[in-house]
Amino acid sequence: MAGVNQLTDAFVNELKDVYHAEKQITKALPKMIKAASNPELRSAFEHHLDETRGQVDRLESCFESLDLAPKTKTCHGMVGILEEGAELMKEDGDAAVLDAMFIAAAQRVEHYEISAYGTLVEWAKQLGLDCRSLLEENLAEEKAADQKLTRIAEKSINRAAASGREPQLAHDRGRPGERLAQGASRVRKAVTGRKGTSRGRSARKR
Ligand code: FE
Ligand code: ZN
Ligand code: FE
Repeated sequence: MAGVNQLTDAFVNELKDVYHAEKQITKALPKMIKAASNPELRSAFEHHLDETRGQVDRLESCFESLDLAPKTKTCHGMVGILEEGAELMKEDGDAAVLDAMFIAAAQRVEHYEISAYGTLVEWAKQLGLDCRSLLEENLAEEKAADQKLTRIAEKSINRAAASGREPQLAHDRGRPGERLAQGASRVRKAVTGRKGTSRGRSARKR
């Protein structure tokens, strides 16, 4: 970066960063839509893909309002967050557990964006820039997307993910009550951080 002596320099830098982030998200969301199982989650991702395309347009309008050509600057934070999401999509397993993990990954994306737009809106305010309102619109959509994911997780997916559909290995068969007890002891181990037995270890690997 060539010297940042003015807040406008920082603003443009941040604008390029979030522009890169949003463009990447438009490529990642179609894969999330395919990977998700829960219909409500899929439609939330679909809706947010539409919104994200609109957000890219708004950012381009921001550049225009500053007499700048839209330019990206690699957002390494979002690259990393989306790489983690891509890793999850290679996993197979219980559909509800995977959906719960996709929500966790997607909410990391939203929180990162909320942080970026929060900064941009405040800086635009300081600088008296008209594009502030466009950035506020993006910020509002990110917050709503985040809250919607929370609602979907709390309403159904987290419960389905926890509902005792424990994967059964040969050594781990038992009556449902026993399986639940094993699940509880696994959770205890995870929470207390105590090293598990060989069974605990194999549970973590699953
Ligand atoms: Fe976005
Ligand atoms: Zn970034
Ligand atoms: Fe978003």
